[in-house]
Amino acid sequence: MDWLKGLNPEQQKAVKHNYGPLLILAGAGSGKTTVLVSRTGRMISERVAQAPEICVLTFTNKSARELKHRVGQKLGSAGQGLWAGTFHSFGLQILRRFHKHANLSPYFGIVDQTDCNAILKELIKDIKNSGKDSFDIDKILNMINDRRTGQAPTHEGFDEYHEMVETLAPKFAKRLEHLGVVDFEGLLIKPLQLFKEHPELLEKVQSQFSQVMVDEFQDTNRMQMDLIHQIVRSHNNITVVGDDDQSIYGWRGAEVKNILNFPQEFKNCEVIKLERNYRSSSEILAVANAAISKNKNRHGKVLRAEAAQESGDLPEVFILDREEDECEFVVSEVLHFQREGFKYKDFAVLYRSNTQGALIEASLRRAGIPYNISGGTSIFDRKEIKDLMAYLKQSLAPNEVSLRRIINVPNRGIGDSTIEKLTEFSKKKRVSFLDACRLWRDAEVGEKAGDAIEDLLAFLEGFPEQILNFNVGSSPGAKMVEIFSELGYRDYVYNSAKDPKAGEKKWVVVEILGKILDSYLGRRAYSVEYIKSFIDSMMLRDDLSEEDQAEKIQLMTLHASKGLEFPVVILAGIEEDLLPHKNLGSDIDEERRLFYVGVTRAKKRLVMSRCMQRKKNGVVRPSTPSRFLLEIPTNLYKEYPLGARPVSGQERDDLVASFLSKLDSKINK
Ligand code: ATP
Ligand code: MG
Repeated sequence: MDWLKGLNPEQQKAVKHNYGPLLILAGAGSGKTTVLVSRTGRMISERVAQAPEICVLTFTNKSARELKHRVGQKLGSAGQGLWAGTFHSFGLQILRRFHKHANLSPYFGIVDQTDCNAILKELIKDIKNSGKDSFDIDKILNMINDRRTGQAPTHEGFDEYHEMVETLAPKFAKRLEHLGVVDFEGLLIKPLQLFKEHPELLEKVQSQFSQVMVDEFQDTNRMQMDLIHQIVRSHNNITVVGDDDQSIYGWRGAEVKNILNFPQEFKNCEVIKLERNYRSSSEILAVANAAISKNKNRHGKVLRAEAAQESGDLPEVFILDREEDECEFVVSEVLHFQREGFKYKDFAVLYRSNTQGALIEASLRRAGIPYNISGGTSIFDRKEIKDLMAYLKQSLAPNEVSLRRIINVPNRGIGDSTIEKLTEFSKKKRVSFLDACRLWRDAEVGEKAGDAIEDLLAFLEGFPEQILNFNVGSSPGAKMVEIFSELGYRDYVYNSAKDPKAGEKKWVVVEILGKILDSYLGRRAYSVEYIKSFIDSMMLRDDLSEEDQAEKIQLMTLHASKGLEFPVVILAGIEEDLLPHKNLGSDIDEERRLFYVGVTRAKKRLVMSRCMQRKKNGVVRPSTPSRFLLEIPTNLYKEYPLGARPVSGQERDDLVASFLSKLDSKINK
């Protein structure tokens, strides 16, 4: 198997590296991820390590799947057992395996931010005399996490928040423990604690993974770095790849010094630089290089265009009047490039904030252009998904948070006073909320509500088996949707919507979950065990919908676009206050890197747009071009101040023809 074929000498050197630390520090599109894949494949082929001895840490679970797929395609069964995933799924794997030592049940649940907020609210309610009664819960959670992870606090000074966090943090940790659940931060913190307390477990992990690799290393935080140190300490076979110019998660605690200090941290580290960019045309790269060169404190890298697609097409900047115009503009650009032969899947529309995405989404929908929106306000955040996941969790990995969420959803006559009684009872008798429900008579809950509780508990008991008991010609997902409908969730959704149309939209989300379950189980087997692992992957926000991205435009935030590439990239809203974002205080350099990440996603064509006015807090205000745009020499791009490209003769004829035919059909109606 030739894993070196087509690679340049520096890439080959990296792929051939066997033992000891290796740092590949290189710019966007220089083949860092490609090298990781080839190195993984070559090591297995040449028996430097067997597949199950290799651990590749990626930025998303989706890229982990891609890596496994590419290695598997070439190696077949020899590639099986390779471990690839995010740091969070790595932590999860460790905790599941050593759950006893971590004091967890084998099927402990994972709680997300919404769940954590609910827990915190309860706790705050319990703390009497807290003075202030309305706290910003997100802020509290952030502060608690900063504390737990030993990060420099993002909120300085000392005020009622600090006071609250001081009291809350230990209570919060205890509460999670008591509930038997782990939150996202915990997926990193707990394995680290575990390794500290049980060195023999760490040894097991160290000898299991004799080769460790990390993609997008510039965005690792302190805990992730600690974890890496721990698992490779016995052999130091660690390869990391990254680009300091693409470090964009500083606001979330990522530390770019992890990559810059890597050679000092790991003795005898080999450093390889890749200087040719294979992704973008030289015109696009010129813009990228001009933009990033304005950053101070750079490591300084050369990046030369190598791509065959010397298009000669300069990147383009369009100036629109208002954001509505920009949304229409995106639609017309898609149609324009389609005429040039590009397919829907060739496009990505990237933006800084989710609000922008929602507007663009609406106009694509109106125009009937298929799109897929990822990152940000995703399906995982929908109330319907959270409700239904709570049902699944409560039946397979019971925890109080999910039980509280569904106990009266849909309405089954279990009111607040009943819940209050159960809570009091569980506190007084020191039993779990679930046990309090079971003992509803002792908790002096009325007969009617008590019956409803018993019905619910009985339902939850048999729920997974019911899902798997689907009819021939149906599927587990379809069966699950049917069960929810019978349970009254369909009526609940329709009744709580403002009109039937809105109700339908909500119900569609339930059906989508059914499809996601099917596509997950379809690749595995129909068993309760896999429904359990389905819950995990949903909680880790594993993007499971890759199958149907085939003919769709991709919409995502700049942050979510890291590591990806597209023939045509549209960067929307290149304006001050959006990019750089206004809430960001002073880290202009990080915002500039974000712009650089966006530009370097494009292979052949790059289109940027900005508006003259934009709505801010409900008021339309003048908007000025992003400083990042002004920093680029004007000879490197074409600008269209009127917001439209000049129309060619053919295009004009097409437009007129389509207009006339529309008119015709209107008249003939
Ligand atoms: P990013 O920093 O954005 O994550 P990267 O450094 O990981 O980028 P890759 O995604 O690995 O870069 O590669 C970018 C593109 O260049 C891919 O399409 C890849 O297939 C291609 N490529 C990489 N190396 C070569 C090569 N030697 N010859 C031809 N194409 C290559
Ligand atoms: Mg990459």
